Amino acid sequence: GAPPWSGLTLWRGVATAEPFLDGSTMVMVGDGEQKFVAYPLGPVGPDGRMPINFIAERRGAGSGEVDWNHPIDPQPIVDLFREWAFDWIDIPALIASADEILEYPMVDRDALPQWTFGRTTLVGDAAHAMYPNGSNGGSQATLDARTLAFHLATAASPEAGLRAYEADRRPATAALLEQTRQAGPEKVMVLAAERAPEGFAHIHDVIGPDELEEVATAYKRAAGFHPASLNGRASLSVVR
Ligand SMILES: Cc1cc2nc3c(=O)[nH]c(=O)nc-3n(C[C@H](O)[C@H](O)[C@H](O)COP(=O)(O)OP(=O)(O)OC[C@H]3O[C@@H](n4cnc5c(N)ncnc54)[C@H](O)[C@@H]3O)c2cc1C
Repeated sequence: GAPPWSGLTLWRGVATAEPFLDGSTMVMVGDGEQKFVAYPLGPVGPDGRMPINFIAERRGAGSGEVDWNHPIDPQPIVDLFREWAFDWIDIPALIASADEILEYPMVDRDALPQWTFGRTTLVGDAAHAMYPNGSNGGSQATLDARTLAFHLATAASPEAGLRAYEADRRPATAALLEQTRQAGPEKVMVLAAERAPEGFAHIHDVIGPDELEEVATAYKRAAGFHPASLNGRASLSVVR
């Protein structure tokens, strides 16, 4: 069936523009209803400009129809972000200058009850397509591959290896899927907007350092890249 739609629509594009902030920073602006994410893709060219990748996001402004190659007219998106021209980044100008903008509904897939059937299993997006909150789909596919290789190298049979891989990865990715549906690490943006709709002087006035750390740590643990947990577990490399 059709993938469930979050109600959010993403517009992705690449603009060539002057650097913002220090020229090597990723920014995320907004809340759970409307958001803008941008980061540089390469160095500053001789003309003083650089390629900047961006994602503009808004709830209820598109459709859940899945078409990954759907170019759109930038003007309505520029209009949605008209008020977002700041002295450190001009978001409507960035959107207007994109070479092309593609529209994506933010969809995912419900967690599957089974990945492995005999000598066949699922990895990556085929196993657990999830929202891009946390920028994590590629990382999870890599973790799948590494875990799969470990179990195939150490299990008594290929079938047992696939079952052990699924036992490791399916519950972990199902839990992560739930976190991405709650905005993942970007939950702090939602909290800040809820608690201080008129703005704030310092983030700690709105969300204390402990709570910020708690949100980040919970996501890192669920996603499998919490440094202390990683350093504390046995390596997945098999030395023969
Ligand atoms: C715009 C965008 C931005 C993203 N940004 C990030 C990010 O910042 N960080 C992150 O971690 N993840 C990101 N992701 C998610 C990430 O790209 C995916 O989660 C990841 O690529 C999944 O890997 P995969 O190997 O499972 O699938 P894919 O990378 O989709 O690979 C599947 C491959 O199978 C091929 N294929 C399909 N059907 C057949 C067939 N019948 N026969 C042979 N081959 C076939 C496809 O052509 C493709 O090459 C992003 C995704 C998109 C679309």
